[in-house]
Amino acid sequence: MGRNILHCDMNNFYASVECMLDPSLKGIPVAVCGSVAERHGIVLAKNYPAKAYGVQTGEAVWQAKSKCPGLRVVEPHYDEYVKYSALARGIYSRFTDMVEPYGMDECWLDITSCEKLFGPPEKVADIIRETVKFELGLTISVGVSFNKIFAKLGSDLKKPDAVTVIAEDSFKEKIYGLPASDLVGVGRSTERVLAGAAIKTIGDLASADPRMLASKLGKNGLALWNFANGRDESRVARAGESPPVKSVGHGTTTVKDMESDGDVWPVILELTQDVGRRLRDIKMMAGGVAVNVRDSNLVCRQWRTPLSIPSTSAEVIAAAAFGLFHARYRWELPVRSITVGTFNLVPEGAAYAPRLWDNVELAERRERLGHCIDDIRRRFGKNSVRNCILCMPSTLPPEHAEIVMPTGMPC
Ligand SMILES: [Mg+2]
Repeated sequence: MGRNILHCDMNNFYASVECMLDPSLKGIPVAVCGSVAERHGIVLAKNYPAKAYGVQTGEAVWQAKSKCPGLRVVEPHYDEYVKYSALARGIYSRFTDMVEPYGMDECWLDITSCEKLFGPPEKVADIIRETVKFELGLTISVGVSFNKIFAKLGSDLKKPDAVTVIAEDSFKEKIYGLPASDLVGVGRSTERVLAGAAIKTIGDLASADPRMLASKLGKNGLALWNFANGRDESRVARAGESPPVKSVGHGTTTVKDMESDGDVWPVILELTQDVGRRLRDIKMMAGGVAVNVRDSNLVCRQWRTPLSIPSTSAEVIAAAAFGLFHARYRWELPVRSITVGTFNLVPEGAAYAPRLWDNVELAERRERLGHCIDDIRRRFGKNSVRNCILCMPSTLPPEHAEIVMPTGMPC
């Protein structure tokens, strides 16, 4: 039996919440930006009037203001976003228990079995859209389809406050003329590879030779070919079923640009304190470390390295991240922000194959030290134990929060 899947996307989520809470913002161009004082001065979200001036997510506040001099800049209120995100999920869960969040503002719903209760899928989509608008004062776009990929595509087609159906018997006419980059999983680099093979639309992708796609894009190429042909069997998770954590990371924009390795090291070490603790909290160890650097021109670069012995130790992760940075960054420009991430997570205590020259005993002592430090910090406060170098004045902002873009993508 065919499935009925909805994808609900809250329109301009952060900006809509701000405009709903402060009526003086209605109808004027608004951008939600990280604190300018702490130099997280990037546009995180904007409303439609700001979009009409060409304001873009991810650009610096000054760029946005030069396009739109009347732009009202407001600071983000994450607690409100969390609250309204949960309220929307609460509304969705009146219709089905299969509600799978994707970032803070998007959810998939499997409503296959609720036809008898609420009517056909497009009607359910409409009721949900109206309920969210009435109860929360926020608009959503809903895509209705027979799989998750096309439901998500549908919610992007008409915005705001709209329902789009992509049906199993007519999806080709509806979407084969759209650019391939509209499909989930086609990022900029994939788009370039596809363009190199003269694949511009979703239709081109569907009719391409899967072997050619696999040779250019590996597993991902085959998955995209299946998606374009309407073959996506992935199921919608049940509410409360959390997907396994695949990475843990932490990032910050410093109050002053970093200009030397000496500026960068304490920042990396501070960030990894948090990464190590969060890994230990979820009882996982990092099998690899990534460092993401953004220079003063806001150009990002990322490097990754595996760890021969999985670890949660802040010092081990920091040393790996700094090693990557030191070896690869050329210092043509000062550094504005750094994110340290971990990947290839393995459960605590999982078996691994050390190399002959690895000091396993030292690694185990470092793990115990991490737990010990967590324990002291739990009892006596976060700053009760600190690395000596972190007691010196630094370029870190007071409470260095990670900036997360509205799509859930760390910036
Ligand atoms: Mg959205």
